[in-house]
Amino acid sequence: MMKRAFQTSFMITIVLFGVSCESATESKIRHIQGIAQGAGLGAQALASFSASLKAKPERFFELLDKILAQAEADPWLLVRADKARAIPADYEPKDLVSLDGTSVVVSRPGHRVRLPAYQALAAAAAAAKAEGVTLLVSSAYRSYAYQESLFARNVAELGRQEAERVSARPGTSQHQLGTAVDFGSITDAFAGTAAGRWMGANAGRFGFSLSYPQGYEALTGYVWESWHYRYIGIEASAMQNEYFGGLQYNLLLFLDAYRATIAVTPKK
Ligand SMILES: [Zn+2]
Repeated sequence: MMKRAFQTSFMITIVLFGVSCESATESKIRHIQGIAQGAGLGAQALASFSASLKAKPERFFELLDKILAQAEADPWLLVRADKARAIPADYEPKDLVSLDGTSVVVSRPGHRVRLPAYQALAAAAAAAKAEGVTLLVSSAYRSYAYQESLFARNVAELGRQEAERVSARPGTSQHQLGTAVDFGSITDAFAGTAAGRWMGANAGRFGFSLSYPQGYEALTGYVWESWHYRYIGIEASAMQNEYFGGLQYNLLLFLDAYRATIAVTPKK
């Protein structure tokens, strides 16, 4: 009898424990869904995000913890830099490294990227090279002043409206972050090259993300740029691909909104 009673209470404990765990996860999911909704994701993106989150919540929270730790250690890694959110004119990364004299193949001397982007880039270039593919870096860090002159030139040549589609107003370019890299020809033809295909298939493994994918000009504000990748980290790339339909823009909207909620909640 004693044994039976013990077994029964043991079973009840397990069941109760199971129920309370489940509801804790459910409430965390609801919290995240609320933040995604407030972040301004479109209805379709929100529905698909929600479905992925419910299907694999543990994976999501595991990635989120790692991403938040990275963002805390490196506050500029995952900032938004888009048409609606500028970065300060005087922001200049402190850890820019020159690609000159490194294993990374460059179009001309003088290209620089931030250290974490360099490390990922060198690893990607080595992996591509092992498969017979050369990744050529054609543009990397651009200062605010350089972006200013580039944009002015585009406006003069193309008119303001077209310039806005193909280039960034100063302060809104990911290139000012030192983590964005343009590869190859910087034309649509890049997508069909070995390097373009290799990056399309492998970028995420090295923490790189295609910023302006094909068919999303209405979302990102930019025409398709098959050559423009931003380093966001391996975990953020994974979250982007597994939960945000491969859209960096939506991932960054969400992370920005999430970080805003924890910024106003004092830490215990
Ligand atoms: Zn670019």
